[in-house]
Amino acid sequence: MASAKTLEVPPLAATRRLKELMAGHFHELDQAARTKSRPVAWVTSVGPAELLLSLGFLVYYPENHGAMLGASRMATEVIPRANALGYSPEICSYLTSDVGAYLAGQTPLKRAYNIEAPPRPDALVFNTNQCRDVKDWFRFYSQEWGVPLLGVHTHRVIGPVEKHHLDDIAAQFRGLIPALEEIGGRKFDLDRLREILGLSAECSRLWRAVLETAATGPAPWTFFDQTIHMAPAVVLRGRPEANDYYRLLLAELKERRDQGLAAVPGERHRFYWEGMPIWGKLRSLADLFASLGSAVVASTYCNSWIFDAFDPDEPFESMARAYTELFIVRDEAYKEAYIKDHIERFAIDGLIFHDARTCPNNSNNRYGMPRRLSQETGVAALVINGDLNDLRCLSEEQTRTNLEAFVEQLDEAAQT
Ligand code: SF4
Repeated sequence: MASAKTLEVPPLAATRRLKELMAGHFHELDQAARTKSRPVAWVTSVGPAELLLSLGFLVYYPENHGAMLGASRMATEVIPRANALGYSPEICSYLTSDVGAYLAGQTPLKRAYNIEAPPRPDALVFNTNQCRDVKDWFRFYSQEWGVPLLGVHTHRVIGPVEKHHLDDIAAQFRGLIPALEEIGGRKFDLDRLREILGLSAECSRLWRAVLETAATGPAPWTFFDQTIHMAPAVVLRGRPEANDYYRLLLAELKERRDQGLAAVPGERHRFYWEGMPIWGKLRSLADLFASLGSAVVASTYCNSWIFDAFDPDEPFESMARAYTELFIVRDEAYKEAYIKDHIERFAIDGLIFHDARTCPNNSNNRYGMPRRLSQETGVAALVINGDLNDLRCLSEEQTRTNLEAFVEQLDEAAQT
């Protein structure tokens, strides 16, 4: 994809602050793990982070490290190390690249922040709301280091979220507390949890607001920017600095929008991206779409860190709802209605489904959804075969050819 013409758009000024925030996050974790000044928990990206923060843990997100391994293109090199231990090339390539990097003694944190290794945890806490792979991933480290493995098992492929789902998940959250109190050495404080949930709720509202600046065109930023700027919503929600960051970013995006400054100059098409990013090709894909006058303005992936349900007045029940009503947890009917709503609200004229080889959980093309959605909405869909981290699964030439043909087809349809 290297030959796509790069269209020059000024970079977002907020990026500088983003870099400072992320450096602070990793150095804080590194120091805490090395000096034992504070307990560290590893947590899944849509897991019970707020509960851990309320109990005094610093939280580290291995999926974020997985994305860094992908973006730095270290992943493809280290995945075979995990394969050699019996972790299949067909399972989550976050898992295989993270475990592979550990076995190889490598990390992108070294180059980015001069940090030798991810922080050693005092607890590993998963939520299977996204997949089973996260539990297997954390189990590897639990066995390797003798660290307690705790978790929440969520109902999957559900339609409406019902009371029995919420009662069960809320009870599982409460059930984590005694072990976490013992590991972290701090008593649970309900008021502190309410405070953190309030911060997370605000972060979620701001993250929604920044994403929605692309709802009416021309979009001031695209999916490829959003995947970078979502980092605070993932790793720093529940902390005031994340909210300050999104206020800054929102002001800049609104200014861009008011000035009519488009991320894709001459925007002709507006796409929805369904599925995982292809981390090692973000830049070249951004250039490719831009060179075709196409802006990817919305995505399921970036929306996954919008948690409308958080409510400090009902902490456990609202956490249970927020972490259960996610797109990835739901059935096909819910997902199709969700995407149709976004087609309307973001004026989408093309759907891109990324079939990520190693993540069936985030590849929603496999049970006929693109065809059904196209038939019902009249919006064309394209499936791209690739992977989040394992670039051996991606044919760049095929992707370019297919996308060019797809855009040509949309252009022709627009002229008739
Ligand atoms: S949802 Fe997919 S990418 Fe995320 S941890 Fe699970 S298998 Fe990996």
